[in-house]
Amino acid sequence: MTAAPSALPEQFDAIRQGIPPTVTLIAVTKFLPVETIRAAYERGVRHFGESRVQEAIAKQTELSDLPDITWHLIGHLQTNKARKAVEHFDWIHSVDSLKLAERLDQAAMEVEKVPQCCLQVKLVPDPPKYGLDATALTPLLPQFDQLAHLNIRGLMTIPPQGAEPAVVREAFTGAKALATTINQSGFHRLHIDQLSLGMSGDYGEAIACGSTMVRLGTALFGPRPLSP
Ligand SMILES: *Cc1c(COP(=O)(O)O)cnc(C)c1O
Repeated sequence: MTAAPSALPEQFDAIRQGIPPTVTLIAVTKFLPVETIRAAYERGVRHFGESRVQEAIAKQTELSDLPDITWHLIGHLQTNKARKAVEHFDWIHSVDSLKLAERLDQAAMEVEKVPQCCLQVKLVPDPPKYGLDATALTPLLPQFDQLAHLNIRGLMTIPPQGAEPAVVREAFTGAKALATTINQSGFHRLHIDQLSLGMSGDYGEAIACGSTMVRLGTALFGPRPLSP
């Protein structure tokens, strides 16, 4: 891993202070060195987002002296890594298929943990992106509701790359509306109280649309390397 300056960019505190206290700030540290995580931790950040399981495990090992970090997996997860994800993350934002959810549920039972989960949804068409679109998701909801070892309590969405502001808003308001629909459907366990909406380029809009968790990398830390 390249040695990066552990000093945080000047804008770090200002960006943090601009997030309402009701919204959880997840500092996205993928590809960034552990020194950056430490520096953010020292400023009081406790929620960190990583996109790859192996990279996160390596960092967690180096940061094992920091006991109270909440780790969020925000990147696509392959089913064969479900168990490791459950072992190493408190939150999984990228539950994008029933099959993955079933694997996570099984792993959670074995590991005796209850991961907090978001369903990754697509509210506007975006073929290259992972995620369940609303028409595919709706008939599967009763099956997600059966997964007793997961706490499925959020929706996560990523608007299409380069989308117009109106489309971004459509994606965010669509997530909020879907959460309301799910919550009014009378499920036993499934209840959505978190909306994981908003990255560096669109978190203002996301918060205006009801986001409760923003995932910020570049805005906090500046441009990141293209790989670890
Ligand atoms: C990388 C990533 C982010 C952070 O992106 P920035 O634009 O740097 O804020 C947020 N969410 C997901 C799912 C990501 O992969």
